[in-house]
Amino acid sequence: MDEIFLKDEQETINFGKEFAKRLKGDEVICLLGDLGSGKTTFVKGLAEGLGIREGYQVRSPTFTIVNEYPTQRGRLIHIDLYRVEDFDVEQFVGEGIVVVEWARNLELCDCIIEFLFEGDGRRVVLKFNKKEVRYGLSG
Ligand code: ADP
Ligand code: MG
Repeated sequence: MDEIFLKDEQETINFGKEFAKRLKGDEVICLLGDLGSGKTTFVKGLAEGLGIREGYQVRSPTFTIVNEYPTQRGRLIHIDLYRVEDFDVEQFVGEGIVVVEWARNLELCDCIIEFLFEGDGRRVVLKFNKKEVRYGLSG
């Protein structure tokens, strides 16, 4: 488990960009944390780091549930399950990098990133299910 502190929005974006470098292309990343804690901001950085194609922009999938963005490293599938009870995330596994806000079935997640309010910034707690070796922030 790793913990980091992100002092502002730009640091959350940068964290997403850095995190992108560690991905192979078929991971499921689950994002936890209250409304406004930075989950979608993180996905913006992630998309940037993956080389999101020109003309595409990360927008919160609060209403669409699923947004997809083509990137230089394959598809980025962005899911938001806020208040969505029955949704099969599994159908997307293997189709690209899957990132799920308000994930419920944490069994499916290779990595869980929790965003917590702390002062004016955010504390981020990372937990890894299966591919720990690949991600550790320190290595
Ligand atoms: P969520 O998707 O979790 O609901 P958003 O990413 O949509 O949250 O919104 C997070 C809000 O907090 C945005 O206004 C963003 O500018 C801000 N923010 C993001 N990261 C940080 C941070 N590390 N410190 C302070 N504010 C942040
Ligand atoms: Mg969001």
